[in-house]
Amino acid sequence: MFKNLSDRLERSFKILKGEGRITEINIAETLKDVRRALLDADVNYKVAKSFTDTVKQKALGQNVINALKPKELMIKIVHDELTSLMGGQEAPLNLSGNPTVILMSGLQGSGKTTFSGKLAKKLKSSKGKRPLLVAADVYRPAAIEQLKVLGESIGVPVYTEDGNKDAVQIALNGIAEAKRNHQDLVIIDTAGRLAVDEEMMREIEAIKNAVKPQETLFVVDSMTGQDAVNTAREFNERLDFNGVVLTKLDGDTRGGAALSIRSVVEKPIKYIGTGEKLEDIQEFNPEGMASRILG
Ligand code: GDP
Repeated sequence: MFKNLSDRLERSFKILKGEGRITEINIAETLKDVRRALLDADVNYKVAKSFTDTVKQKALGQNVINALKPKELMIKIVHDELTSLMGGQEAPLNLSGNPTVILMSGLQGSGKTTFSGKLAKKLKSSKGKRPLLVAADVYRPAAIEQLKVLGESIGVPVYTEDGNKDAVQIALNGIAEAKRNHQDLVIIDTAGRLAVDEEMMREIEAIKNAVKPQETLFVVDSMTGQDAVNTAREFNERLDFNGVVLTKLDGDTRGGAALSIRSVVEKPIKYIGTGEKLEDIQEFNPEGMASRILG
C-alpha cells in the first residue's frame, strides 16, 4: 500500500540528514521534493501545493533550522499535516435508526457489492447487528446473483425482486421486509455504470430521497487516483453523501485518492477495502495511515 509514495518521501527527508547546519534552502529543497512525491502519487495539484505551503510555515515556525534533530522534527510536521489532510479523526458510521439504512453508491466495478458484504459481516460480528442486504441493481442479473452468493457465505439474508425494474420500490420493499423480520440494518447495493451518467444519478438520487438513509456511502477504487477524486466530486454534488469508502488499497502503490479526496469533497473517508476477501475491511484511521505512509 502506497509503497512508491513512502519510498519517495523517505528519500525527500534525506536532504535534512547531512552533517552540517540546516539552512532554509535545505528545507525548501526538501519540500520541493515532497511536493513532487505527492504529485507523482497523483495527488491533486492544489492539494499538494497548499500541503507543502502549510508544512513550510510550520517548519519555519517551529524552527526546524535550529532543531537538534531537524529531520525528525520535519517528519513529525509532515506526519501531522498528512493526518489532518486525511481528516484528522476517524469518522464512525451513524448507526441510529431502526433499521439503520446504508445506501451504497459508486461506479460499476468500484467494489460496492463486495463492500456491502464486508460491512454486513463486520457489523454483524462486531456490533451484533442483524443485517439485510438489498439488491437494487435492476440492470445486471449477475450483480444480484453475486450479492446472493455473498449473503449466503456470511449468513446474511438478501432481498431481491426478480423482474422488478423499479429500484426505488425494491429499496422501500426491502426496508419493509427488514422491519417485518426485526432486522436492524439494511444495506442497499445499487447499480453503477462504467462512467457517471445522468440516468444512474437520477436513480440513486431517487432512492436516497425515498429511503432517507442514515448513511449514503460513495465507494471508489483508490487505484484510479485523480479519476476517483473527480468522480467523488460529481457524486457528491448530486447526492451529498456522508462518507467515502476507498477500495483496493492493497493494490494502490500511489495513494493519491486517499490523500486528496477528503480536502476536495470535504467528506470523510470512513472505510477502506484492503483485499478481495470479506475480512479485508478496516475503519479508516487518518493518523494510522499517515504513520504507514511515513514508514
Ligand atoms: P461493484 O460493481 O461496484 O459492485 O464491484 P464488485 O464488488 O463486484 O468488485 C469489483 C471487483 O473488485 C471484484 O473482482 C472484487 O473482488 C474486487 N474488489 C473489491 N474490493 C476490493 C479490494 O478492497 N481489494 C481488491 N484487491 N479487490 C477488490
